[in-house]
Amino acid sequence: MRTLLILGALLMSSAAHAQVKADWKLVIHGGAGTIRKANMPPGKEQELHAALDRALAAGSKILSSGGSAPDAVEASVRVLEDDPNFNAGRGSVFTYDGDNEMDSSIMDGRTRAAGAVTGVTATKNPISLARAVMEKSEHVFLSREGANEFSRQQGLEQAAPDYFATPERRRQLEVFKSKKVSALDIEYKFGTVGAVALDSSGHVAAATSTGGMTGKRWGRIGDSPIIGAGTYADDRGCAVSGTGWGEYFIRVGVAHEICARMRLDGAAAQTAADDVMAEVKALGGDGGVIVVTPKGDMVYSFNTAGMYRGKADATGRSTRLYSEAQER
Ligand code: ASP
Repeated sequence: MRTLLILGALLMSSAAHAQVKADWKLVIHGGAGTIRKANMPPGKEQELHAALDRALAAGSKILSSGGSAPDAVEASVRVLEDDPNFNAGRGSVFTYDGDNEMDSSIMDGRTRAAGAVTGVTATKNPISLARAVMEKSEHVFLSREGANEFSRQQGLEQAAPDYFATPERRRQLEVFKSKKVSALDIEYKFGTVGAVALDSSGHVAAATSTGGMTGKRWGRIGDSPIIGAGTYADDRGCAVSGTGWGEYFIRVGVAHEICARMRLDGAAAQTAADDVMAEVKALGGDGGVIVVTPKGDMVYSFNTAGMYRGKADATGRSTRLYSEAQER
């Protein structure tokens, strides 16, 4: 009788556990902008698809084995930071003075814990520094030399300025300076990377990492390291990572606004994302977002010619570069 009772209890607890198991989801982006098929150099498309797929694979491996959403988004973003094709980590764009100053942020939707850094110059993977701020400090947001020092104290891998700098980004800075184009010209701002995930325990997380904008000056900070603007995660709504004209994303509070509309108005994820991106557009900005929800929605929304992006779940992985019209 006693054995039967124990067996029954065991069966019930495993049934309860099975109930909380959600289907995991992962969505990533590698920046939005004037991305057109016609302008893509030979071989570049394949390189970009392969990089996005590697990032999806890294996050999927964690999620499919029951790992957490923060672990997955960090892992996916690290892959894109290491790839010089994207404006984050290695391959970050240059400031007006010819330096690489990087921004990143991460948020855990389960606890709404968050970490962010701005103007960091020596951490190989800035997203892991944001994660350390979230988990190993009492703070949410650290900047510049202080953040560099915290990174060293935490024993994170450091890299010399040469590691981040690429000839292609230097050329873009030269073009920027010679043409005297605005630092806000869309041509110069794609490449920021981000990831959002839902794990099998039903929790969401978001992460974003960037070099910012080519030619940025005066310690300019965009939306990417700002919790609520470029990154937000809340199990009661969704997880969002953005890319685009940072000043507008800050003014609209894009990532938090999308989650708030879902939580307070019951808006559908795609509607909330499209409507908030329309507000960015109405003010004169552009860009895109990726969203996941605890229910398992996976959303892209962008108002540029393209957004490097990808999705993965238990059924497989897919990557895209252009607007749906151009993809066809
Ligand atoms: N949002 C970034 C910034 O304003 C740029 C980007 O998404 O590429 O710094």
